[in-house]
Amino acid sequence: MTPADGEAPTRSPAGGAAAAAKGSGWLLMYLLVGVTPLVVAVTANPPPGRGFWLELSVGLGFVGLSLLGLQFATVSRFSAVTAPYGLDVVLNYHRMISFVALGFVLAHPAIIVIQDPALAEILNPVTADWTARFGQTSILALVALIVTSVWRTRFRLPYEAWRVLHGALAVTVVVSALIHIERVGYYVDGFWKRGLWILMSAVFVALLVNVYLVQPWRLRRRRWEIVSVEAERGGVWTLTLRPLGHEGVRFSPGQFAWLTIDRSPFAVREHPFSFSSSADEHGTVTFAIKEAGDFTSTVGRLRPGTRAYLDGPYGVFSYERNEGPRFVFVAGGIGISPVLSMLRTLADRGDRRPCLLLYANESWQDVAYRDELTDLEERLHLTVVHVLAEPHDGWTGESGLIDGAVLDRHLGDHPERARYFLCGPVPMMDGVQAALLARGVPAGHLDLELFDLV
Ligand SMILES: Cc1cc2nc3c(=O)[nH]c(=O)nc-3n(C[C@H](O)[C@H](O)[C@H](O)COP(=O)(O)OP(=O)(O)OC[C@H]3O[C@@H](n4cnc5c(N)ncnc54)[C@H](O)[C@@H]3O)c2cc1C
Repeated sequence: MTPADGEAPTRSPAGGAAAAAKGSGWLLMYLLVGVTPLVVAVTANPPPGRGFWLELSVGLGFVGLSLLGLQFATVSRFSAVTAPYGLDVVLNYHRMISFVALGFVLAHPAIIVIQDPALAEILNPVTADWTARFGQTSILALVALIVTSVWRTRFRLPYEAWRVLHGALAVTVVVSALIHIERVGYYVDGFWKRGLWILMSAVFVALLVNVYLVQPWRLRRRRWEIVSVEAERGGVWTLTLRPLGHEGVRFSPGQFAWLTIDRSPFAVREHPFSFSSSADEHGTVTFAIKEAGDFTSTVGRLRPGTRAYLDGPYGVFSYERNEGPRFVFVAGGIGISPVLSMLRTLADRGDRRPCLLLYANESWQDVAYRDELTDLEERLHLTVVHVLAEPHDGWTGESGLIDGAVLDRHLGDHPERARYFLCGPVPMMDGVQAALLARGVPAGHLDLELFDLV
């Protein structure tokens, strides 16, 4: 089997080291592209009348633009870039760096006006010339982009609408800034400056084309179809897909993929789901999908034969990335899905390392895959502890939340030696993480998967 695009599965520490080295290389390249304009600006010999501050302000504007243009790279899902860190870390970086870029971009007009208040008219869209207006457009689009991203749920923006808006604003930010610079002209004439400028613009355009055209085009050639959709307890569906005319996908247990179902791969409607099947199962893959909103609540109505596209695997949440003498899995609700993949894989590989699963659900009727987990207890050296928030009369197991007391009752001696995999609602993950750290578990032994990338 050949891996599709995405973060390649890692099974060996050597593979991890190679990925880390590659990651550092990419980081270095990223930093170089990011700061080169600043270096060029501050080392250039400014003509009389253009002082240090003016040049610095331009340099900061250029760095802001570099960082914004490179944002297309951070969402491009390049396997070589995301594999060492994990897509979630890269997307988190994408979010954080946009604030830094905003700071650089705002500093550009701010410094110009502070060092010469007579130039304040560049801030006024009515009196400013078109050169300044393109700069203003870029900044306004950037502010709108950040505001609609940070407060998306407050504005009740559906995810798909937000994604279209986000893309349109991002293109506006970069294209308006490029036009602004071209119109200013001074910074892009001369052989080297012009060359750098053309290269920078070409990289941004190439990244754009890659995100919106090349990647969907490549997905188009790797079609999948639905084999079955089966109802589980707790509003969960098991969706099984098989590859059409290709070998499928190889993934590490715990990784996820972006699914596009019954639409063209160019559609913005794609959703991330963890593989729930064993990584050693060849041909078909399964996903455990819980009804949560407009897409997931339609999964139960999908019919066998429906076409699908799968972009992945992504993610670093896998015992293959954090091997140890024993494993503790903590799952809340649908957080069981990547854990199921890890347990099924361990069972297929005949792995006899001790495993503990703490599995939190509202009630006993909600516990998806509970019969299979009982079977897995036989096939593995596994103990499953169900924790019910609303236990029925006569329930003698754990109840309430997974807290320090529950952990103390089940972790056994030397909890610091185990490797932990947490996936569930944020409050549960925060609470369990804090309790484990307080019990001396090293942070490096903890792996978390958040089902929330945006
Ligand atoms: C890494 C990862 C793995 C996941 N694995 C699973 C899994 O195995 N099983 C499962 O049931 N759920 C999983 N999810 C959650 C799943 O992606 C969302 O529940 C689903 O996308 C919601 O879509 P909706 O249209 O039904 O709901 P909506 O009501 O439209 O969305 C609910 C929330 O889900 C998030 N969301 C919606 N669409 C997307 C999208 N395209 N990309 C990212 N986030 C989105 C948004 O925060 C949104 O506010 C996973 C999420 C992530 C990030």
